Amino acid sequence: MEANVQAEKGQLSIHTDNIFPIIKKFLYSDHEIFLRELVSNAVDATQKIKKLADFGEFNGELGELKVSIKLDEEAKTITISDRGIGMTAEEIKKYINQIAFSGAAEFVEKYKEKEDTRGNIIGNFGLGFYSAFMVAKEVEIITKSFKDGSEGARWICDGSTEFSIEPAEKTDRGTDIILHIAEDSEEFLSKYRLTEILEKYGKFLPIEIEFDEKIINNPTPIWVKAPSELKDEDYLAFYKELHPMGEDPLFWIHLNVDYPFNLTGVLYFPKLKNDFSARKEKIQLYSRQVFITDEVKDVVPDFLTLLHGVIDSPDIPLNVSRSYLQADGNVKKISGYITRKVADKLAEIFRNDREGFEKKFDDIGLFVKYGIISDEKFGEKAKEFCLVKNTQGKHFTFEEYTAQVKENQTDKNDTVVWLYASDLQKQDAYIQSATKRGYDVLVFDSVIDPHFINGIEYKIEKTNIKRVDADTLDKLIEKEIKLESVLSKDDEEKAKNLFEQTLGGAPKLTISVEPMPTDELPVVITIPEFIRRMNDMAATSGQKSMFGDMPQMLNVAINANHPVTQKILNADENEQKQLVRHAYNLALLSQGMLTGSELTAFVQQAVSRL
Ligand code: ADP
Repeated sequence: MEANVQAEKGQLSIHTDNIFPIIKKFLYSDHEIFLRELVSNAVDATQKIKKLADFGEFNGELGELKVSIKLDEEAKTITISDRGIGMTAEEIKKYINQIAFSGAAEFVEKYKEKEDTRGNIIGNFGLGFYSAFMVAKEVEIITKSFKDGSEGARWICDGSTEFSIEPAEKTDRGTDIILHIAEDSEEFLSKYRLTEILEKYGKFLPIEIEFDEKIINNPTPIWVKAPSELKDEDYLAFYKELHPMGEDPLFWIHLNVDYPFNLTGVLYFPKLKNDFSARKEKIQLYSRQVFITDEVKDVVPDFLTLLHGVIDSPDIPLNVSRSYLQADGNVKKISGYITRKVADKLAEIFRNDREGFEKKFDDIGLFVKYGIISDEKFGEKAKEFCLVKNTQGKHFTFEEYTAQVKENQTDKNDTVVWLYASDLQKQDAYIQSATKRGYDVLVFDSVIDPHFINGIEYKIEKTNIKRVDADTLDKLIEKEIKLESVLSKDDEEKAKNLFEQTLGGAPKLTISVEPMPTDELPVVITIPEFIRRMNDMAATSGQKSMFGDMPQMLNVAINANHPVTQKILNADENEQKQLVRHAYNLALLSQGMLTGSELTAFVQQAVSRL
């Protein structure tokens, strides 16, 4: 039998009496979490009474167990009521006066020296019951324990270190927390504001939450159910719940572990296309169904933040700073586990449904490639199923592709050369030349590809990856046996000089004479792979190239075997110059580099020859 409640006034057992303003300052941007904390406490108390009933330690009527929130705009109060285990007066003194407040004092001790880490912890740190004082000038607890013979008790405190406690009339079991909202927090005396906060933090709480005569939550979201109970429709419906406007996801992974850490969740692969913007804030982190944050970048590797969905783990420490979080052993294990699961899922689809996998690869390619270049462990697994596509639209794994082109595209140093195009339209002339020689050309045209190429090249043994227009074909894939030149050394020298003199004004041209097949252009312009790649990567990562603004460097190769070269050599001086310019412009044109007034002049000249 519990002792009856004695009226009492007392001092809270904390060492400083200015804890309140400090906390208020620390949490200035996130006052709204008071509701998350108080509703979570109400839910916990309710879960506890259910457990006690299960264990046979509570034999009374459970009754209706929902948690309800009431707003009284006139009285300027918000009341959070539950039918959980309640508290005796002794328990209030212990849990509220001692534990809740000492927890708050500890928080202040820990963080008052480190203002700079403030932004990292706010919103995650559960200050528990004390957070009520961020918005209330006075807090009342009216509660009655489930224990037989308990009396109701009323505790009241105005945020100073003084409290009073007295007997209270309360017929049913449970707790009402009454917040007398402070003047500077009256924004919370709004139905809309409260609905918004409740929906943000409490959408999936495990006990029904009632506000404004509505239940605001789904107490059994799919991630708490067993995968065997669920059908595809359930996963798709839940995705809609998270992203009402979103396109259906491609597939999903149900996460479910309880050892050595506890983690549940569902991650969806969205249709990404070429869109990096789809990524932000689409994974929500929960702790026992309480929403914590949608910033998970400290918890999962960056490439996984492209996924959508929910992860729920009570084992992710929330009251620590960002750098501490990343170093935390559990967080590392969790992140490793999720990475492995994601890789395994992709490998499974690849094995079981190659065709379907290929169809989806346009959408998941960005994700897979990002994973490969940013996460070693994922990369190890993903190189088995990452696909490349050629200009005919055929997909290959790395291994398959090398096997496919090895015979034709191995150079004299025994290196296999993968050729690729980044723009089928612009690089058409080069693709066609390569195709004529029986070479295969891949397509790498997404924003991530410049980084991807750089990232994989050294991981695939004895392989170079070069864009079709990075050099003349003979130089891209250098063979032991070379095409003969029909020109004498003298004539080659003459042709080179002629081009240098005529195009002398154009900067950064490296002119050479090379034997090429007669059906290629008389002049071929190429941009060195290395330089272009650096510029491309700098462009997509929004940084300057490490070489600053690299001037456009062009290689100009004169086709020694083309009849036009012979014609130029034989022409008189005036015509020579015209022909050189013409051939050069044609080469620029096929590289897509002839634009503006130069293009207009070229077209006019061509017309005048008709
Ligand atoms: P925490 O919830 O992290 O333990 P709090 O400061 O939020 O810390 O609460 C301190 C304690 O007060 C809780 O552990 C619980 O024992 C008790 N308590 C708080 N709210 C309730 C409630 N609505 N019903 C029963 N007990 C409560």
